[in-house]
Amino acid sequence: MSDSSTGLAGLTYLIVDDEEFIRTLIGRILEKIGGVNIRTANSGTGALATIDADGAPDIILCDLNMPEMDGIEFLRHLVERDFKGGVALISGEDKRILDTVAQLGMAQNLTILGALSKPITPAGLLELLQKFLNRAEARGPRAGVEVSAAELKAALDGGKLTAYFQPKVSVQTRQLVGVETLVRWIDVDKGFIPPDAFISVAENNGLIDQLTDTVLAVAMQQGGAWLENGLDLKIAVNLSIDNLNRLDLPEFIVAAAQGAGMNPHHVVLEVTESRLMQDVIKPLEILTRLRLKGMALSIDDFGTGHSSMEQLKRIPFTELKIDRAFVNGAGRDNTARSILESSVDLAKKLGMSIVAEGVEDQEDWDLVASLGVDLIQGYFVCRPLPGPDLQDWLSDWNAQTQ
Ligand code: C2E
Ligand code: CA
Ligand code: CA
Repeated sequence: MSDSSTGLAGLTYLIVDDEEFIRTLIGRILEKIGGVNIRTANSGTGALATIDADGAPDIILCDLNMPEMDGIEFLRHLVERDFKGGVALISGEDKRILDTVAQLGMAQNLTILGALSKPITPAGLLELLQKFLNRAEARGPRAGVEVSAAELKAALDGGKLTAYFQPKVSVQTRQLVGVETLVRWIDVDKGFIPPDAFISVAENNGLIDQLTDTVLAVAMQQGGAWLENGLDLKIAVNLSIDNLNRLDLPEFIVAAAQGAGMNPHHVVLEVTESRLMQDVIKPLEILTRLRLKGMALSIDDFGTGHSSMEQLKRIPFTELKIDRAFVNGAGRDNTARSILESSVDLAKKLGMSIVAEGVEDQEDWDLVASLGVDLIQGYFVCRPLPGPDLQDWLSDWNAQTQ
């Protein structure tokens, strides 16, 4: 075995395909590179059962076309399980479908290694798997930061979580219009812990209300301070769908805003689409009451979920945020660009304002500007920063714009 494949031998694999022939073929290739821990399943349901019973593998090789649960649905279940490994897609389908599925997966933070079209060759498979090792190395020590519920609880109780702010600027005037509040946890030992590593821990362990309250408090206090300095901004806060079970949430947020000297119309609540659409009745009531009280509602990560137009119309969203997977580099990617364009069209028809997220360079800016997006958020404008640093950034930004 060559050096490059010894790392592959130590990994655990799960092959999901309804065709026995393919399962056997891939299994043989994996055995040849020294793989010993190889499981197989002949359906998505079977694969989920083995994951739930025996734990997740490092790598899943998954067919897209399966009779009972297709590959896209299977990926969604992996997202729900917070799967951290790599996914290699297998399909006889044309490249565009594979690309779209890969994009969908990546937008939901799955590590999609790529697509393997049939007929499968050992060289093609090895190349995909090698990507997994390369990525794991590239991500370095941050890879797989694991956070327990107890650690998160201690950090929350100890006041270790705070929030940063990222500007949203007008495409037309370049003026600062608002900020998005993003939770931040910087631990002395572990360093920067990305929200994606602990939001689901909070949701699954009854800690998300406490997390949201912490972020909301920082956001309102900072927003009130800016307002006092003459900076009138819309302050956006992310809500988890699990926050929408709390009947007093609308009153709570209004009180927090007013306590800081602001009004409900200063507040924007961002809710993620993919989770929103799973159970729509209870959240619908709370979202509508938030809206009635004058707060703006933003549908976050648009393009990645499984929403129907019908549901989008029923919930009184005022803003649509297009996920960065369809913004950054969309000029060079036809599939992303189509999703971007149709999202803009849809939002316009529904009278919503449109935010493009993940604008990283001038090319991204020019594209979304030409499509008629209203607001831009992204590293090209500014990275998330501590609240007190915003005014310095703003002076520089305004100086550039003059
Ligand atoms: P999101 O709501 O989509 O937030 C935007 C994310 O994109 C942030 O990552 C931000 O730092 C990043 N970002 C902004 N501009 C760019 C860009 O130009 N390029 C790239 N590559 N990335 C950009 P962050 O802070 O890691 O947050 C990740 C996710 O965690 C958020 O995604 C949101 O879903 C969740 N989250 C963050 N704070 C909270 C919170 O207070 N409550 C809840 N429930 N979720 C939160
Ligand atoms: Ca957001
Ligand atoms: Ca987003």
